[in-house]
Amino acid sequence: MSIPIYTYDAVIVGAGLAGCAAALELQKAGKKVAVITKLHPLRSHSGAAQGGINAAFSEADSVELHEFDTVKGSDYLADQDVVEFMCKNAPETVRWIERMGAAFSRTDDGKIAQRPFGGQSSPRACFAKDRTGLTLLQTIYEQANRHGVTFWDEWYAADLLYEDGKVYGVAAYDIRNSERAIFNAKSVMFATGGYARAFKINSNAHANTGDGLSLVARHGLPLEDMEFVQFHPSGLSGNGVLISEAARGEGGRLLNSEGERFMERYAPNALELASRDVVARAIIQEIREGRGVGPRKDAVYIDLVHLGKEKIMERLPELRDLAITFLGLDMIKEPILISATAHYSMGGIPCDVDGHVRKNNTEFVEGFYAAGECSCVSVHGANRLGANSVLEALLFGRFVGKSMVNDIDGIELRKATQADADAMNKEIDWVLSNNGTEKVALLRNELQQSMTDNAGVFRTEETLIKQVAIMKELQARYKNIRIEDKSKIFNTELQEAIEFGHMLDYSLFIVESALARKESRGAHFREDFTARDDENFLKHTMAYMDKDGKIKLDYMDVILGKHELKARSY
Ligand SMILES: Cc1cc2nc3c(=O)[nH]c(=O)nc-3n(C[C@H](O)[C@H](O)[C@H](O)COP(=O)(O)OP(=O)(O)OC[C@H]3O[C@@H](n4cnc5c(N)ncnc54)[C@H](O)[C@@H]3O)c2cc1C
Repeated sequence: MSIPIYTYDAVIVGAGLAGCAAALELQKAGKKVAVITKLHPLRSHSGAAQGGINAAFSEADSVELHEFDTVKGSDYLADQDVVEFMCKNAPETVRWIERMGAAFSRTDDGKIAQRPFGGQSSPRACFAKDRTGLTLLQTIYEQANRHGVTFWDEWYAADLLYEDGKVYGVAAYDIRNSERAIFNAKSVMFATGGYARAFKINSNAHANTGDGLSLVARHGLPLEDMEFVQFHPSGLSGNGVLISEAARGEGGRLLNSEGERFMERYAPNALELASRDVVARAIIQEIREGRGVGPRKDAVYIDLVHLGKEKIMERLPELRDLAITFLGLDMIKEPILISATAHYSMGGIPCDVDGHVRKNNTEFVEGFYAAGECSCVSVHGANRLGANSVLEALLFGRFVGKSMVNDIDGIELRKATQADADAMNKEIDWVLSNNGTEKVALLRNELQQSMTDNAGVFRTEETLIKQVAIMKELQARYKNIRIEDKSKIFNTELQEAIEFGHMLDYSLFIVESALARKESRGAHFREDFTARDDENFLKHTMAYMDKDGKIKLDYMDVILGKHELKARSY
């Protein structure tokens, strides 16, 4: 049975901020571009971003300070040339989206309002109430449509067409009816977003299953700095739904069971507005030492009552709704229960400042680009600052789109053939026909729970080795699955099985990279190596998966710059 082959100049997988921004640039330059997305674009996780987008444009602030905060926040693992590029272009990027129609919250004198965020020297996060991501995503999606970008909504990219150092398309299927197709192009961009669904308690959308990373890794290409997963300090207790840092930015206080504002002990200057890794560890430490609150004593309070009804309704209406819906607690009247939640992935598909994906430390893949949360460019190093990732997605999405436009005429189209769908066909047919005894939902639950327990906020050699063994076992059990739904229409069971395969692959990268990094830096905290070790580990992890699913590790230099290495305190 032959399947259609569609030919484009460029194919982008992902319709969040990064994918839409790149598509807009390509389309405006007259290139024929297709965006493939497993979700309706407006359901991309970018739309869930609440707190804000950073740009240094107030008088008290400067691009240098934004750079400094970002590098310090990264625990000096960020590449400083890329940080400079992002911070320098941030104000113009915010104005760019504003002029396309994004309605930001304003100060009384009509300027774009900015709120304080953790680890930042100045109020720098521009916001639209607590619905910033949705406002930006609606704007960029609207503009992409206006300029005629072709969206393939609810299509699932299942394989990358890659051979001899060159990418020339993707194989995908229509979630609505299981029809398969090949998208052949001179250049391909992955903007597939984050992957914190590997953890039980997380703030991410169900779709954040790291497909892009595993598709890349399965072709023997590297993933960078996968050990660095950010745990956000404030997820609603029990389910991890995010209470944005805006809550602390606006003045929220963290309290333990003794009513103590415990951040005074962990970060005497910045308090609740220390960097995320610092606050998340403090919360877990309080809970471990028996000062947790709530029915299971596994949470702490965030108290916003003193802000008053008016400010909460004006600045944090969505957060209030979330706490009422999920916990039955109204932040206007009472403190709410929170704890750390897996939130953001600093690591990903390695690329340079123009989005060119790395084949190894020195070579690049032809015709392949990445931007947004799935990429590792590396602007966040070991820990990302709040409101820097919506910025990253929008800004790099846009500039990588421009770099694709620049490169595209020099790239020759490699023609796809029917054989390019073989791997996808094999995988789908295997999931549909495999007649084992395991259920994907149960395996997923075991993966998530064990990742939270063994590769979470605190890690040791013992827990990580244990997790490697659990992963091996889960991989073996995955080969023995069976799904009940064999139909072609919206077969979500099929999709979830494929996604779980992706989760297994990239989770092993997280665990193996974490095991080898015998130091604590940013979000990666080893209880058996509590100090940062610049002598041995001021370097990026580059991890590769071989044909047998084994992970091999290599390292790449960090690009340092004018911000000198210092001990990090808040
Ligand atoms: C609750 C929450 C709040 C946040 N708040 C903030 C904030 O205030 N400020 C900030 O800076 N950052 C915030 N972040 C982080 C930030 O929102 C994300 O890092 C950023 O929006 C990611 O954008 P993206 O374009 O890379 O990916 P996404 O917006 O996640 O889009 C991914 C796209 O990839 C597509 N896709 C994935 N796999 C496939 C596949 N196999 N086939 C086809 N399509 C596929 C999806 O359909 C989707 O369109 C928040 C994150 C969360 C979870």
